Amino acid sequence: MSIIGWGWNSYFEAFLRGDDWENAGPARVVAQQRKYWRVAGDFGECWAEASGKLRLAADEGADWPAAGDWVVVEFHGADSTAMIQEVLPRRSKFVRKSPGKKMEEQVIAANVDTALLVSALDGDFNPRRVERYLAQCWESGARPVIVLNKADACEEARGKAAEMERVAIGMSVRVVSARTGQGFGELEEFLRPGHTLVLLGSSGVGKSTIANRLLGQTVQEVRPVRESDSKGRHTTTTRELFILPGGALLMDTPGLREMQLWDAEHGVVQAFADIDSLAAQCRFGDCRHEAEPGCAVLSAGTLDPARVENWRKLLREQEFFRRKIDPEARQEQKELWKQIHRAARQKYQQRQRDEGKR
Ligand code: GDP
Ligand code: ZN
Repeated sequence: MSIIGWGWNSYFEAFLRGDDWENAGPARVVAQQRKYWRVAGDFGECWAEASGKLRLAADEGADWPAAGDWVVVEFHGADSTAMIQEVLPRRSKFVRKSPGKKMEEQVIAANVDTALLVSALDGDFNPRRVERYLAQCWESGARPVIVLNKADACEEARGKAAEMERVAIGMSVRVVSARTGQGFGELEEFLRPGHTLVLLGSSGVGKSTIANRLLGQTVQEVRPVRESDSKGRHTTTTRELFILPGGALLMDTPGLREMQLWDAEHGVVQAFADIDSLAAQCRFGDCRHEAEPGCAVLSAGTLDPARVENWRKLLREQEFFRRKIDPEARQEQKELWKQIHRAARQKYQQRQRDEGKR
């Protein structure tokens, strides 16, 4: 498959300084195994190591290549391992705290275009959890789409979809059944060739069943890839980027399955743009929206108290992370967040005005 098929586009092209490299070209990371990365490009697929330069940069805090990354790979003949020279800037990234005590982020999925936030319509239906995933998704840069699964097991799918639409203001909400295939036609627009998807959601909502249906009858299981590494050892690893029959790409990494909300302040702001826009009108700038006089959030009366509570909870979590992270680095981010707050508010207010006109 060509790099176009793997999702290459003008965004990444713009970062490629092609003339710098002899015997080198762009490739996408489709699996990883400790310090080896499985890369796919116009040449086919192979395992690659990080170049000395990249390792040095990573030791100094830059990111290692992650699943979904576009990298520049250099080849030195059939007998030696390909070398990853560079990780191209990411269009989106899902991150989590690194294992261990250090509060450091680790990229678990890069360059995802659309995240299908899956939730089940049966007993487990929980808009609060979706808000959390939504925040995480806004933070990543991927576009969220809400997928309500198990429509076959629910009598009031429409009502629940409407409830979800109130939580996920302006978002697409799709009702499907992975068991019967109902509603899958509505996912077509996200299944374009070269378009990268992830499935996010709690355990049991039906992500694997959806993945299997998307992958089709032929490729049911996540099959291990067996390869020899450069030292001739036999290693087993699991593919993390799959090609769907229509040409879209489905990313499935262990990290994504265990993802927790992490440093997603501006994601929280976007997911709760309605509340955030009210909070801007509170009398006190440091209003905690608990019992303060002149609190616009409390006096609105139109907000679902559970939603407000979840918003507060997520903000508290963000505060916790913020205190743990390097204060200087956070300062730089602060101005950016201010802009994001402003943009999210304006977007929300515009939508309110547009809705008012209709
Ligand atoms: P995951 O943990 O999110 O990957 O969820 P699974 O795909 O493993 O599904 C969890 C359970 O829900 C399994 O017993 C599935 O058979 C069931 N399930 C998945 N999709 C549907 C659906 O559309 N309808 C019904 N009734 N059950 C489903
Ligand atoms: Zn307030």
